[in-house]
Amino acid sequence: MKDRKLLMIPGPVEFTPAVLQAMGMPTTSHVAPNFIEVLGQALERLRQVFLCPNGQPFVLAGSGTLAMDMAAANLVEPGDKALVVNTGYFGDRFADILARYGARVTQVLAPAIGDAPALEDVAAALERDACKLMTITHVDTSTAVGVDVPGLAALGRRYGALVVVDGVCSVAGEELRQEEWGMDLVLTASQKALGTPPGLALVMAGPRALDAFRQRKTPVGNYYADWTHWLPIMAAYEARRPAYFGTPPVNLIYALNVSLGQILDEGLEARFARHRRLSDAFKAAIAALGLRQVPVSPDKAANTLTAPYYPDGVDASVLGHIGMAGVILAGGLHPVIRDRYFRIGHMGAVTPADILSTVGAIEQGLAKAGYRFEPGVGLAAAQNVLRTA
Ligand code: PMP
Repeated sequence: MKDRKLLMIPGPVEFTPAVLQAMGMPTTSHVAPNFIEVLGQALERLRQVFLCPNGQPFVLAGSGTLAMDMAAANLVEPGDKALVVNTGYFGDRFADILARYGARVTQVLAPAIGDAPALEDVAAALERDACKLMTITHVDTSTAVGVDVPGLAALGRRYGALVVVDGVCSVAGEELRQEEWGMDLVLTASQKALGTPPGLALVMAGPRALDAFRQRKTPVGNYYADWTHWLPIMAAYEARRPAYFGTPPVNLIYALNVSLGQILDEGLEARFARHRRLSDAFKAAIAALGLRQVPVSPDKAANTLTAPYYPDGVDASVLGHIGMAGVILAGGLHPVIRDRYFRIGHMGAVTPADILSTVGAIEQGLAKAGYRFEPGVGLAAAQNVLRTA
């Protein structure tokens, strides 16, 4: 019997064998011709995956939080006004980071946990106070809320704010068209829908973001994340020339390039559709089992993860039972409701078989926890979607 459990948390996710093989390749010098080619190709592929043909990609060792830090460090000068569209924990984090670089931050909060601010409220905030930039969390992993990014980005543009999108839980899983939707900077991390082990921070800066950076009057208050250091490095690798500022994580970048190749082979439209279909199947199962979700309505729910509340009489110990049934899930993250809900990631290379295994393990765990339901009802609901979609 396999001794490995299925990892279905909202990052890190399961990775393909080819990606994992790349992690184990002999590590070469970061200025060896083979690595220069790989990083150069990865940078070109990132433009395609972000749907941002005129963007400037940055790839560096770090996690998604470093990508947020890089965005704020390079775009904010002390005293700048920034607006945070907040749908959970990661909106709070962006507000903290922006404030750390001296921004005067206004937040538009969701009316309730699991909801998203109305476009009119965001427009009113931008109207009240001209902002240099606004941040949007495409999918807040603490609430599983997915926002109307094109609608919000259009507002940012209308009011002259740089539009910065935290796409850590969305890029390469949720539909996201950086250039067409007028987003000035999109950031992500490797370990989620991009399908690469944790350890890479990725940023795609559009022309308006780079202009704002070039017009800064004050130096960037962060040494490692300063674009002054990284712009020549990224340009050199794309021109297939060696360059050095900080040692790149060679094997992670091999793995990233393999995953980007797989993403482009699948095709972005097919990948977005697969994430929608598997999410619909999983959410149908959760509803059939009688569990409510944190997002207040289906139009507010992301496709990359699901956040169900525990049913009455069940608590976080059910995650242990589900783990015994072979599937690892995540507990709650939003501080106000942390103990009342759990989270399932279904992104990256996820398959229909993964969805069915996960629903099956949840049924076993819930039964063990004493929750009463008709056995198989979740599986049947998921199958119905998978059969017809
Ligand atoms: N933003 C979002 C939406 C996230 O889900 C996460 C990670 N869960 C982060 C930012 C931070 O990324 P990391 O944990 O890689 O620093």
